[in-house]
Amino acid sequence: MPSPAVVLSTGPSGRICNPAAWAALTAGELPIDAVQAGLMAAESDPECIDIGYGGRPDNEGWLSLDAAIMDGARHRAGSVAGLKGCKNPIAVARKVLETTPHVLLVGEGARKFATAHGFPDEGPLLTDTARAAYQKFLAGEARPTFTGHSHDTVGCCAVDAHGDLAVGCSTSGLDFKLPGRVGDSPIIGSGLYVDNAVGAATCMGMGEQMMQVCLAYRIVASMERGLSPQEACEEAVRALLRRRAGVSGIHCTVVALAKDGTSGGASSYPEDVYYRSSSADDGTVCVRALQVKVGDVA
Ligand code: ASP
Repeated sequence: MPSPAVVLSTGPSGRICNPAAWAALTAGELPIDAVQAGLMAAESDPECIDIGYGGRPDNEGWLSLDAAIMDGARHRAGSVAGLKGCKNPIAVARKVLETTPHVLLVGEGARKFATAHGFPDEGPLLTDTARAAYQKFLAGEARPTFTGHSHDTVGCCAVDAHGDLAVGCSTSGLDFKLPGRVGDSPIIGSGLYVDNAVGAATCMGMGEQMMQVCLAYRIVASMERGLSPQEACEEAVRALLRRRAGVSGIHCTVVALAKDGTSGGASSYPEDVYYRSSSADDGTVCVRALQVKVGDVA
């Protein structure tokens, strides 16, 4: 059954990712290529402070990036975590998918793999804004925190007119994190998941909390059981809040896209938005993610 082509992206930098992914998809590129193109556009933009080149460093002043990509049509994934010296970790994750039998490469191994595939080591890679933020951290005026938007991820899902799906995620993670800290974003099933027979989902927020409930997989599994993407997103945020009831201020925003082009989004925060492009939308629209409140968990 033909479906309308749709692209969804989370996070403030979804405003850069989504139009670029949509342009690629409408130019006839595969969903996985569209997702990669969108994420690379955001990763390369120094104004995007949550992903790629514009991201915030770890507590040693290095950009250390996480990214993953998954192709629904082949049910294959590639991922990198703690990658240094590279603006476009999603392109390296794609190389892992395309050229190895592996799914996830980390740290020094990811760096060596990147170098071997033509991504030279570009050093700490801090923009002037990121360097200024790091100086504040060193002066004790900023600290790692999941409140507000001192973290964030761009997660991107796409479906084409054939109903083929793909999903990707890219992040600099928690600002000023411990070196070696990895969140949910490069973990298949936590930060992203796709089942080409069902749909795709991706997440943004407190990785430490979300990765303990395999949130993206849960959303797709709920859709497989018959929930709409919107219902599945709300159920997942409710489930997270219920299981992490002792933890205050959980930030979690999720989006989902079904094979038929229907979509949804939910958040534990009142103000979070995501971006959607489809032939039914007039360009890219900014959509409020429905807030799931702590009182909704009973
Ligand atoms: N999920 C990301 C991480 O934990 C950060 C975020 O989306 O806010 O690394």
